[in-house]
Amino acid sequence: MAVKLERIKGTRDLLPEEMAARRWVFERIREVFERYNFHEVLTPTFEYTTLFQLRSGEEVVEQLYAFEDKGGRKVSLRPDMTSSVARLYVNSFQNAPKPVKWYYIANMFRYEEPQSGRYREFWQAGVELLGSDRVEADAEVIALFVESYLNTGLRDFTVNIGDRVLLDEFARMLGVKDDVGLMRLIDKKDKLSREDFISALRDFGLTREGIDKVLSLIGIRGKPDEALPKAEELFTGRGAEEEIKRLYELVDLLDAYGVKDHVLVDLGIARGFDYYTSVVFEAMVPNDLGIGSVGGGGRYDNLISVFGGKPTPATGFAIGIERLIPILEWKGLLPEPKLRPDVYLIPIGDDPEVKRTTVGLVSSLRRADVRADYELKGRKLRKALEHAGRLGVPYVILIGRRDLTSGRVVVRDMETGEQKDVEVGAVVSFVRELLRG
Ligand code: AMP
Repeated sequence: MAVKLERIKGTRDLLPEEMAARRWVFERIREVFERYNFHEVLTPTFEYTTLFQLRSGEEVVEQLYAFEDKGGRKVSLRPDMTSSVARLYVNSFQNAPKPVKWYYIANMFRYEEPQSGRYREFWQAGVELLGSDRVEADAEVIALFVESYLNTGLRDFTVNIGDRVLLDEFARMLGVKDDVGLMRLIDKKDKLSREDFISALRDFGLTREGIDKVLSLIGIRGKPDEALPKAEELFTGRGAEEEIKRLYELVDLLDAYGVKDHVLVDLGIARGFDYYTSVVFEAMVPNDLGIGSVGGGGRYDNLISVFGGKPTPATGFAIGIERLIPILEWKGLLPEPKLRPDVYLIPIGDDPEVKRTTVGLVSSLRRADVRADYELKGRKLRKALEHAGRLGVPYVILIGRRDLTSGRVVVRDMETGEQKDVEVGAVVSFVRELLRG
């Protein structure tokens, strides 16, 4: 019995049309990353499992694709790039000039329940800026985040900014010990109905007053100029005061970058990763596809020292490619992929001389940067023309014994059916002229 070969749940096969669209998206993002002077790195797809476990207590750790290799090493596929980049930095770049500005475009693996925009293997394009604790570094990264989406043609999106220091402060204000638990709960606010959210807060142990405070916190959501003054009212402690001042500076810089219009403040954002220490942010696009955040990031000032490095502040983000692409497609922003050749050559008959001339011509065209192909299945003229027609090829070149004796071939315009005798030596420039016109 034949073995049934199935694709693993949560993974995808990407076909030529999709690959063409993806490459276009990657290029748009890469362009902006490079303009901001970030440099590309790539780390191994798998690492020692302990690397990811060092960030204990996270959802991502529970979702690891972990296994033992034949040498008995405990290894895991990377669930994101930040840990690997941090390892690389600690291993070899601690003494490099700061800041270190790296980017990556790579696949990640998480054992999650697949759903709209959620896969077990997915790609992220992201950056990490290591070695600056300044608000300028946060602004640089967030501006780049905004510009990356803009460069794909997307306009209708927001980058929502929250803050871990303020959430910690908030937990303290409420007298909550399990601050991580509270953050996780607050992070789920949009996934629950208001009633369910309130009853979850009650189950968590909050009093009426506490619940009201949480509701005012998550109500701080909107244009920075409106939201930040509300934050000043809600928070009283000194730590919070300084952090809010930092947010004002951040927003002011984002204004100078020219991206403030896309920025909202949303103090109810925590983002899943426990390693974030200050500003966190995520990109949202209103859509009917059931797709949540199309990217996210934040500042993580402790991770490098958790990995045994000298304390090094850092900030970064990751854009989710499997979410961005369907949104761009839905908005009609992806270019039509061109998967047909510009010219198709058909040798007529089985004459070796005709074949040699065909191959010679197809090669010359390709060297001249023309997308050219030829009849590799030996179909007869009529069938070969039908095939070229199905592919949607604009020009076909027919090479026959009789024409060759006079050193000529026939170039056919597939749209009009018009045919022209062209000298073999002039075919390349003739075709290039046609394609230019
Ligand atoms: P995270 O690394 O969890 O901060 O996620 C950053 C971005 O990656 C998210 O905003 C999503 O766009 C994307 N992402 C995260 N998990 C998945 C997944 N399982 N499938 C597809 N995209 C994902």
